[in-house]
Amino acid sequence: MKTDILSLFPDELAKFLENEPSYRVKQLFSWIHKGATFDEMTNLPKKMREELAEKAYIALPEILRKYVSKLDGTVKYLFKLTDGQCIESVVMKYKHGNTICISSQAGCKMGCKFCASTQNGWVRNLTPSEMLGQVLVAQNDTGLRISNIVLMGIGEPLDNYDNVMKFLRLVSLDEGMNIGLRHVSLSTCGVVDKIYCLAEENLPVTLSVSLHHSNDEDRSALMPINKKWNIDSLLDACRVYFEKTGRRISFEYAVISGVNDNKSQADRLADLLMRKLPKMPFHVNLIPVNTVEGTGFTSEMKSAQIFQANLEKRGINATVRRKLGSDINASCGQLRRTEMEKE
Ligand code: SAH
Repeated sequence: MKTDILSLFPDELAKFLENEPSYRVKQLFSWIHKGATFDEMTNLPKKMREELAEKAYIALPEILRKYVSKLDGTVKYLFKLTDGQCIESVVMKYKHGNTICISSQAGCKMGCKFCASTQNGWVRNLTPSEMLGQVLVAQNDTGLRISNIVLMGIGEPLDNYDNVMKFLRLVSLDEGMNIGLRHVSLSTCGVVDKIYCLAEENLPVTLSVSLHHSNDEDRSALMPINKKWNIDSLLDACRVYFEKTGRRISFEYAVISGVNDNKSQADRLADLLMRKLPKMPFHVNLIPVNTVEGTGFTSEMKSAQIFQANLEKRGINATVRRKLGSDINASCGQLRRTEMEKE
């Protein structure tokens, strides 16, 4: 069995290379975290590279397909992992920096009714290296310096907790990609026990919470996780997360026509957030839903804007997410689904 060295911390890599001097470990770590292959590590002795290739591998995903938006330059990748599983990543150009949306699992077990990623179930967790690999390959392929990461692709990051924590620590190392965790957002459908764990990690990531409804009955119908942890327990965890980290929380709300988008629902959402989180700064991100085949959910831009205005009237900070890459179907989960169904 070969070792997945892109998933190792520097001290673990040093242990793995037991007989090499520490400067060699540093050189190797730096190469791996630039997305290099063994052949490209030209300042390492050939013999060392040959030995490495025999006992280790670098788990970079292969670009199976790539789509570039003619409208805004958004780039979407369908990646193939070493075992043939497919995942997706999207690179978006924003004024505040180039952002990549990465996947954390192959498939998802959360079962949200509007989401393409969960429709064919869950296959496995991604390793730290497979998450880093998405950033490295996309950065090298686009030639863009990626400064922001959102864990909003396929999968539920808090359902792959240990690997995601290791990924976050690795990606922020000075000697690695050096992406500050203040520039990383982790999105969850509401895995409450793990939000409490995350609050203790001392990692300044932004927590995004996919809320999508303001009452339990309707939220449970859309998002099965709500039957395990209801809205009350979710918002309690958000409050503790803020108290421990000082980080403002972002709530995602997909505005779905005829489901959760009328004025009284905006009012109920405002009531709920003001009542549960009176002293806490937060932001509501309204998402025009991407229509997923077989779900029947749609959005209207106009209702999203009215919903936003209603929240703002109540003193709640809200924005409507700009749709990027709409000509390349940039929302996650759909390419994997088509690809895996073909096989
Ligand atoms: N499992 C995590 C992260 C992945 S989903 C989570 O649930 O937050 C990232 C975001 O996309 C979530 O807010 C999710 O609710 C939203 N989403 C899923 N399917 C969507 C769709 N068809 N249209 C718009 N947003 C969607």
